[in-house]
Amino acid sequence: MTNNEIMEIGNKYVMGNYKRGSTAFVKGMGSKVWDADGKEYIDFLAGIAVNSLGYNNKKLVEAIKEQSEKIMHSSNLFWVEPQVKLAQLICENSFADKVFFCNSGAEANEAAIKLARKYSLNKYGSERYNIISMVNSFHGRTMGSLSATGQEKYHKNFLPMLPGFKFAEFNNYDSLLSLIDDSICAVILEPVQGEGGICPAELDYIKKVRELCTQKDIILIFDEVQCGVGRTGALFAYEKLSVAPDVMTLAKGLAGGVPIGALAANEKFGGVLVPGDHGSTFGGNHLACAAGCAVIEEIKENLLQNVNTMSSYILSKLDDINKELNCIESIKGMGLMLGVKITVDSGKVVEECLKKGLILNSLGNNMLRLVPPLVINSEEVDKAMDILKSVLALLV
Ligand SMILES: *Cc1c(COP(=O)(O)O)cnc(C)c1O
Repeated sequence: MTNNEIMEIGNKYVMGNYKRGSTAFVKGMGSKVWDADGKEYIDFLAGIAVNSLGYNNKKLVEAIKEQSEKIMHSSNLFWVEPQVKLAQLICENSFADKVFFCNSGAEANEAAIKLARKYSLNKYGSERYNIISMVNSFHGRTMGSLSATGQEKYHKNFLPMLPGFKFAEFNNYDSLLSLIDDSICAVILEPVQGEGGICPAELDYIKKVRELCTQKDIILIFDEVQCGVGRTGALFAYEKLSVAPDVMTLAKGLAGGVPIGALAANEKFGGVLVPGDHGSTFGGNHLACAAGCAVIEEIKENLLQNVNTMSSYILSKLDDINKELNCIESIKGMGLMLGVKITVDSGKVVEECLKKGLILNSLGNNMLRLVPPLVINSEEVDKAMDILKSVLALLV
């Protein structure tokens, strides 16, 4: 089928809840993808920070092939070999001691909310259930994770939100402190805010948040759904902040494109959820976890250095562009999760880049989000930055 043929059927039969570019990608290799009309693109979106190993990665494809020939799913009424292996890999390489698996970022945050509520109920009774989240955060689209999301625009058509969420300014310790009382059971934040505009937590802020939560026995939840699993140049983003949470949620890049979500907790909180409390039919199945193991092993062994090197390289390229065109206001982010604030309409830039063979996306109307696959190489960066520069040059 061609792009147009796919689009035509899609417009007729698929719900219109996404704004989609008029392109359907059908295959990829490394950090390049091809659409249904055979046009080639450099990918600086990676399926929204999901395709961490890029496309057609040998190890990942092999792991999925091998597992699917054996068994893909057997339910959590039994033990699942790839699931225990992935849990072990996550725990041995992080602060965590126990892991729960689900299928998406929203679900991982739902599990974190339930864990926090139950811990507090057991220890402090039923009045301590409020959770502090951050303005401009994003935690997902289900009613619980949506209620935890600090952006009015996602709430407004679906009120009422669930009770029990309060919002503090991100990177503002006094704002957090002013909301703390005996009703608070948890604080949830993204170590690097994603959808709300790429923005990392400041080191002294996060250190104070950690101390406050420890002192008050408030559960500190890091939503690493977007920034986790190698994206920042460390296996987990909290390592870059030198502060460990009590609970961490993962999803997007964890299985390199196979749907998965995970909630990882330290010893203190790892035993809170018991049989009957929570579950997921698909969560942690053989296929998704076999993919997750391949991804973590590959990133840990081979890719963290590349993330840091390519990050610096992209920054130097952007600097060159700015010297010529003077159109970049600021750049925020870590590793291969960069937000580039520009002086021209970012939606227009995204559209023009796509025409010239570069996939990007925009946050708001003046920020470009750069989240390429972690396997991106300097030649691909060169190509991407050439395209970006040529587009910006037309628009400034
Ligand atoms: C994408 C995202 C989510 C939601 O993940 P889904 O898999 O879409 O449910 C939650 N938190 C953060 C930080 C995200 O970037």
